[in-house]
Amino acid sequence: QLQQRVHGTTLEINLNALTHNFNFYKRLLKAETKVMVMVKAFAYGGGAPEIANHIQTMGADYLAVAFTDEGVALRQQGIHLPIMVLNPSEESFASCLEYKLEPVVFSPEFFENLAGWTKTHSETMKIHLDLDTGMHRLGFESQHLEELKRLIQENPQLKITSIFTHLAAADESEENNYTIQQLEDFKQMTEEFLPLLPYKPILHALNSAGIVAFPEFQFDMVRLGIGLYGVEVTGNYASDLLPVSQLKTTVSQVKTLPAGATIGYSRRGKLPEGGKIATLPIGYADGYDRRFSNGKGFVLIHGKKAPVIGNVCMDMVMVNVSEMEVEAGDEAIIYGEEIPLAPLAKEIGTIPYELLTHISSRVKRIYF
Ligand code: PLP
Repeated sequence: QLQQRVHGTTLEINLNALTHNFNFYKRLLKAETKVMVMVKAFAYGGGAPEIANHIQTMGADYLAVAFTDEGVALRQQGIHLPIMVLNPSEESFASCLEYKLEPVVFSPEFFENLAGWTKTHSETMKIHLDLDTGMHRLGFESQHLEELKRLIQENPQLKITSIFTHLAAADESEENNYTIQQLEDFKQMTEEFLPLLPYKPILHALNSAGIVAFPEFQFDMVRLGIGLYGVEVTGNYASDLLPVSQLKTTVSQVKTLPAGATIGYSRRGKLPEGGKIATLPIGYADGYDRRFSNGKGFVLIHGKKAPVIGNVCMDMVMVNVSEMEVEAGDEAIIYGEEIPLAPLAKEIGTIPYELLTHISSRVKRIYF
């Protein structure tokens, strides 16, 4: 357990839980299947260099970030695993080369541009091909395949290290037919141009939910994200995953207020019969969503639920503690083991991914 007690708002990250979750997914996979870990968006809010460093020791094979700068930051912190960049800008080709980052190529135009750039600089580069099988975000579509074959043959300086697709709804069982169609289409699309290559690229499609639901489509590698961070996205809240992060704060002040008192901006919080509130040093600028205002959110103090009263402020939030003994300095749990993220996110019409990635850089991360 964490020894250090820090005043104010902290995000505690349990690296042993991360290892536990990694091993949970490894057990669902064949021994030879590689794991790419998604560390984009500051490792889902957990802190990219620290988490990436830990991941290197766990035996992951690859990392992935969204943008080149995220990869550069990891390299500058000494991360040596191969890193795929999902959505690199054309201005960042030189950085990809300098920092050994491997761009995803997702359209014929992008392929041409990167091919031209590498030829001009007499360089080779490892690249990854994104095939669009139904996510309709980035990726080559089936009508691009002939052109893609030509581009591959004309540009041996670009080594096709992997080919992948991304599933649109792997976490929604009512969409299983769509997902299976995506996976079958992926298989068929790759088979068309695998014979063109003198080497075998790594094929991958599954995200966290996909690993659990469609292990027969694990191909050569999977891309693990949210599940590693301990969040169960398939609705099975009693899963074997361990929560990795706990967002906590400490009470700044407790006030006893008379009947009719209103709380916070726009006087949205009301205590018609009076009561007690606690003010916590966490607000929407820390990533505590303003939609938790007025009873949509709650925190745990001494194991009891204290609902948010009034509007969440930029740096503070008030909670109703009329029914409990609380004093300044007491601990309040915002998210964590006893407050799972998925139902909380649902309450305000969002997803755990958003809550995690919104925890701002102002919140101190503590690793143990
Ligand atoms: N692969 C790609 C291309 C992604 O964009 C993401 C995350 O958004 C993932 C894999 C990981 O998904 P999850 O966090 O649901 O495991």
